[in-house]
Amino acid sequence: MTIQVATLGFPRIGPRRELKFALENYWSGKSDADSLSLAAVGLRAAAWARQKALGADVLPSGDFSLYDHVLDISAMLGVVPARYGWAGGKVGLDTYFAMARGAQDHGEGCSHAVDSTAQEMTKWFDTNYHYMVPELAAGQRFALSSSKAVDEFNEARALGYHTRPVLLGPVTWLTLAKGRDVEPLSLLDAVLPVYEEVLAQLARAGADWVQIDEPCLVLDLDEDQRAALKRAYKRLSVNGPKVMLATYFGALGDNLELATDLPVHGLHVDLVRAPEQLEAVWQRARPDLLLSLGVIDGRNVWRADLDALLARIGPIAAERDLILAPSCSLLHTPVDLALETGLDPEVTQWLAFAVQKIGELSVLARALNDGAETVAEPLAAARAAVDARKTSSLIHNPAVAARLAAVDHAMAKRAPPFAERKPLQQARLKLPSFPTTTIGSFPQTPEVRKARAAYIRGEIDEAGYEVFLRAETAEAVAWQETIGLDVLVHGEFERNDMVQYFGEQLWGFAFTRSAWVQSYGSRCVRPPILYGDVARPRAMTVEWWRYAQSLTDKPMKGMLTGPVTILNWSFVRDDQPRERSCRAIALAIRDEVLDLEAAGAKVIQIDEAALREGLPLRRADWQAYLDWAVECFRLTASGVRDETQIHTHMCYSEFNDILPAIGAMDADVISIETARSQMELLDAFADYAYPNEIGPGVYDIHAPRIPAEAEMVELLSLAGKRLPVEQLWVNPDCGLKTRKWEEVRPALIAMVAAAQRMRVRG
Ligand code: GLN
Ligand code: ZN
Repeated sequence: MTIQVATLGFPRIGPRRELKFALENYWSGKSDADSLSLAAVGLRAAAWARQKALGADVLPSGDFSLYDHVLDISAMLGVVPARYGWAGGKVGLDTYFAMARGAQDHGEGCSHAVDSTAQEMTKWFDTNYHYMVPELAAGQRFALSSSKAVDEFNEARALGYHTRPVLLGPVTWLTLAKGRDVEPLSLLDAVLPVYEEVLAQLARAGADWVQIDEPCLVLDLDEDQRAALKRAYKRLSVNGPKVMLATYFGALGDNLELATDLPVHGLHVDLVRAPEQLEAVWQRARPDLLLSLGVIDGRNVWRADLDALLARIGPIAAERDLILAPSCSLLHTPVDLALETGLDPEVTQWLAFAVQKIGELSVLARALNDGAETVAEPLAAARAAVDARKTSSLIHNPAVAARLAAVDHAMAKRAPPFAERKPLQQARLKLPSFPTTTIGSFPQTPEVRKARAAYIRGEIDEAGYEVFLRAETAEAVAWQETIGLDVLVHGEFERNDMVQYFGEQLWGFAFTRSAWVQSYGSRCVRPPILYGDVARPRAMTVEWWRYAQSLTDKPMKGMLTGPVTILNWSFVRDDQPRERSCRAIALAIRDEVLDLEAAGAKVIQIDEAALREGLPLRRADWQAYLDWAVECFRLTASGVRDETQIHTHMCYSEFNDILPAIGAMDADVISIETARSQMELLDAFADYAYPNEIGPGVYDIHAPRIPAEAEMVELLSLAGKRLPVEQLWVNPDCGLKTRKWEEVRPALIAMVAAAQRMRVRG
């Protein structure tokens, strides 16, 4: 039987984040559309060449995106909300980026000034990739408005690659969309003709297969969604190219029969998240259904156990043609381990990034096609790496094991309830009503980044770097005092990233220099690699806090990242349950909380930006996750005295369905993102009678747009209608590190003015 290798999708940002720089140059006006397009062409060509050279038989096209693949489909369908002033035709670059980032045009004297907020952005399934939420309106029209799919197919063909174009499927796209006065799925029949047109064009251009991604098939689906999938693929599987329907991020579960009964020509399943589904898929698949087995982890960085995989796939490979693939697109893994210079060689040998993963797939395919002896050497190397990881003393630390064994429930509980803590904290902090604060970071300016880079390269020494950071901090603290903020922050200038900063100081984490993964648009992150038992050798943030507090009489927040977020934003061990990894992190951060308190911190914020995104995709698995996640947060927060105020912060969160868990976290104050949803999120808190304090974000920090005081007053009034005023804080949606000072200054001045306006109103 023939075994082929496919990749489903390759990282778009480029091995050295070339896309990021090309985009940012374009946005800042340093380059034009032609140079952006040239950079994109170059990246695509390099990605195809690379994948081909590594042994991929089925190359994707259309997996590239200038910002986001969900936005690409919105553009393809001509779904551009009215506020962008789009006149129809093709969705041009500026409209596309306005949808992604918002647009504000202060054209002097121009009567047509555009001032439009970005589309909402949220997490792509349970990843740390963000997509732009499609917005649908009643009477929504759809018309083919982008030729991207065909253009990129042709571009590849001109370079000699026959690709399998990738499209996000209509049912997942509609499932992710937000409808205003319209149920998105009810628009399926209007969407399908556009997909049919694209498929017909691809067929005419010579595509024999397309990959249509429907990751919604791993979710709990209702009858409408199931019916939509049936209707969609009945139509999309005739005439056009053959359809490889890709599912990933979990098990098909109760959608297995639905998926295998769809009249598509191929089905991709995730066998990393759901190895157990191989048997069932194999049994149900029609003989003519081409199976694509996602056997290499597209969501993590560990080298695979190739022997074990061969033993598992061998029997099915003997019976039918197969495609071997990563579990999902390689978008979520860093590009190339070979570019990594900063890692301990012992750790390096355990890892595989996108490039190495394609290599692993190719070894598997060759072993199955030509016999294991033809790849004896790479198989032996993989075996040695897997064995080394099982026994390495870098991983197993008996002291951590002993401490974990000694944890009891009392350690995860603040003794008096919030109602008793609140007056103690108020007496100590003496804050006005509508107290103002920020989420932690201030702009990471080019100067800050340059200084950090120079320090890392050894061009400035530690003392010089510290002098620089102190000056930045002092300036930020003084400025906050001047504009009248109530609870100050030091600005996080010394932090490269809210997780990395901690991971670098903890045992058990490894850090890469160039292992970037796209988070949204041009933003990339380098997730730490959690490989071993975590422990804190020394205090991590106390000196910076102490310095910042020495500059002011206002309360200075201690700023920490919570254990669940550190876990969820890292590549984590796959050799023990996530829960156990999380508890060890919780104990380390707990020690830091106590050190900050001992140093005098009255307010300590423990960010859990990523708690919600760790939710399993299936409801049935939620409670178990929430139980241990909340327990880990509490373990971190509960060692302090009653009068110490614990804050937490969460981004992009919808809370309705997890409010009991948020309540159980029992943070004295929680700041959340609400600006883009007009405070709607607070309804859930009100319905639940959430007792602790809340800072609903009053402006969206994800776009350069500067909010007006009146807008924030309006939002606070909306908040005040939903919750008692004594519960409310005033803050932006999230940290300000991605913004410029020119944006932050007027925005925060207006925010403080808005809070003062509210106080006067009483
Ligand atoms: N304290 C962090 C900051 O302000 C929080 C960021 C986040 O929640 N993503 O940058
Ligand atoms: Zn945030």
